[in-house]
Amino acid sequence: MATGAGRDATRAPPVRARLAAALAAACVAMAPTPALARPAMAQRLVELRDQVRMFPDTVLARLLELQPAIGAETPRVQAELLVQISSARSRLDQHDAAAAIADSIVGYGRALKDDAIVVKGLLAQETAAYARDDNKAAHRYVFEAEKLALRTGDKSLQAEAGLEAGVARAELGDFPGALTTVQSAVNAARALEDDPMPLFHALRALTRLHIQTKNRAKAYATLDELTALAERQRLPLQMVLLKTSEYIVNISFGQPERGRRALLECLALERKLGARYMLPSTLNNVADSYLKARDYPRAAQYAAAALRAANGLHFTGSDAAAHSNLGQAYLGMGRIAEGKKNFEASLAWFEQTQSKPDIQSLLLEYGQALEDAGDMTGAIQAYHRERAISNELFQSKRRQAVLELQEWYAADQKQRQIELLSRENRIKDVELDNRRLAQRLWWLLATVFGLASVAGGLLYRRVRQANGQLEAKNHTLKTQATRDPLTGLYNRRHFHDTMDSLPAAARADAATGALFLLDVDHFKHINDRHGHAAGDAVLRAVADTLRVALRETDLIVRWGGEEFLAFLPALPHGRIDEVAQRILRGVSAHAIVHQGRDIAVQVSVGFTPFPLAPAGVPLTWERVLNLADMALYLAKKNGRNRAYGVRGLDHLGATALAAVEQDLERAWRDGLLELTVVDGDAAPPGQAGTAR
Ligand code: GH3
Ligand code: MG
Ligand code: MG
Repeated sequence: MATGAGRDATRAPPVRARLAAALAAACVAMAPTPALARPAMAQRLVELRDQVRMFPDTVLARLLELQPAIGAETPRVQAELLVQISSARSRLDQHDAAAAIADSIVGYGRALKDDAIVVKGLLAQETAAYARDDNKAAHRYVFEAEKLALRTGDKSLQAEAGLEAGVARAELGDFPGALTTVQSAVNAARALEDDPMPLFHALRALTRLHIQTKNRAKAYATLDELTALAERQRLPLQMVLLKTSEYIVNISFGQPERGRRALLECLALERKLGARYMLPSTLNNVADSYLKARDYPRAAQYAAAALRAANGLHFTGSDAAAHSNLGQAYLGMGRIAEGKKNFEASLAWFEQTQSKPDIQSLLLEYGQALEDAGDMTGAIQAYHRERAISNELFQSKRRQAVLELQEWYAADQKQRQIELLSRENRIKDVELDNRRLAQRLWWLLATVFGLASVAGGLLYRRVRQANGQLEAKNHTLKTQATRDPLTGLYNRRHFHDTMDSLPAAARADAATGALFLLDVDHFKHINDRHGHAAGDAVLRAVADTLRVALRETDLIVRWGGEEFLAFLPALPHGRIDEVAQRILRGVSAHAIVHQGRDIAVQVSVGFTPFPLAPAGVPLTWERVLNLADMALYLAKKNGRNRAYGVRGLDHLGATALAAVEQDLERAWRDGLLELTVVDGDAAPPGQAGTAR
């Protein structure tokens, strides 16, 4: 089985290389790490770090002993202890424990917001992932660690993470990227003067990269630098690892003898050091080199030694590698049954790990060995098994491809959904804009409407004012139409309208109501003597007297020049004379002073009940007024300043009534009716009486 150092070498197919990875090799006598200016605990951890490859079990025990005292240390030192414990457990195949510790380191770093601790934790997670053959997870962790390490500015972390990231890129087939990354890691490591180990590891990684890229010159040049460095330091681990690198370079570039020499030196160192965890893989590598040289007995010898060395280490992987080497050696020696038995033992272990590529590659070796040994049937069986696995792998790869396609399709769908959503969002935005626009429009309308309302309100007020003015004007007009401008009393027209609109019931058969017709005595004389204005003043004074003497409900009218008419609808008939007297006395008592001169005024009055219905036949107001007018004439004729009232017409027939209306005075003398005479102030109160 092929070369050792696993991930330390190439992670490319050969089964034995992968196996050896878990076993790592070392020889060289254990020399102390150079004294460095580090606190005791940190320094101790560096020493243990460099021994963990060779003595993972004892180093783990030491680390666990340190754990109780670690509380006093800084968080980074505490984290470093955990990193070492995780690393030791990974090397001892304690995968779950190693991963759990690595996870806790990352959690610890994140809690402290310390990127350096997080990087350390991520690298521990990477180591644990590689140990359980989960390369995908390992790559994820290392690339995250690489990014974060750059942010910390810590050269040591950058060298460590960069080296691991470079190896990961090489595993992914990105050799240019891997070279750049590892070269950067080398440069970063060169700056670390107090710790030679990072530069050593970086140069080993660079050597392997040159091997992988088939750059012989650079591979040997880098190996030379590595050798110079290791010889300066003389650290046991470095010497062991240097010999391993030397072996790989030489067998890769067609120098198997030199390669085996280096390997045997390495073996001697490991034996001297007692690095038993490294022995199985180195022994397997020696066996492999003899297999390649077709020296089957020696190959069998070393393979058997590897099997013994691995015994008790719980390194079943080493057992498997030793069994396959042993199987190949026995087959080479023609010991078919023993050879088959060992190959089957190896296959059984790989089948347990379910690592199909490893099984496939082992079956190919198996088939080749059987073929070489002349067991064609066995060879064909092995090839058939290889084909079956190959088909399985092909199908699983195709399934993987389909899955990836589905993933891509799902992502595409998601992208479309996102596009759809964003389109919907855009539509919603437009809708929102429209709504805003509509809202703005409504506001505008509302504003316009509001302004219109205000304008309308103003207009309405104007109209109302105008209406008010119009009403006032109408009122004035109406007043003018119904009132006498000089006295403010109703005019003749209004009297006509009122009387015409009286209900019929008011015109007949009533126990109340009377008409009084007045005429100012010798008014011509007043005008003549005191002037027309004095005459007007007299007319106004008479009007005032009437307003005072009568009720508001009474209808007082300026009938003509100096004539007045009053209709008192609610006046009981028994009180008519009394009102006549009140008018006479009221007027004569009203002292009228015009331009410093007293003007004596008296009136004559003719009055009559109204409505009036002699013999039940109602008389029109005109006929009744005519009677009052005739009574007034009698008052004038009989000395003025007096009132004559008509009464006793109730039972008068039509002929008698006609006689009365013809000549009141004669009808009175004929006894057809009665006249009430009320004297003015010339006569003492109560003298009013009935004349015949
Ligand atoms: P009598 O006692 O018989 O009624 O005599 P009189 O002078 O009052 O009667 P007459 O009818 O002869 O005179 C009425 C006068 O009234 C005539 C007219 O110039 C005057 N008159 C009529 N209207 C007005 C008016 O509005 N103002 C004034 N100052 N005089 C008026
Ligand atoms: Mg007159
Ligand atoms: Mg007169």
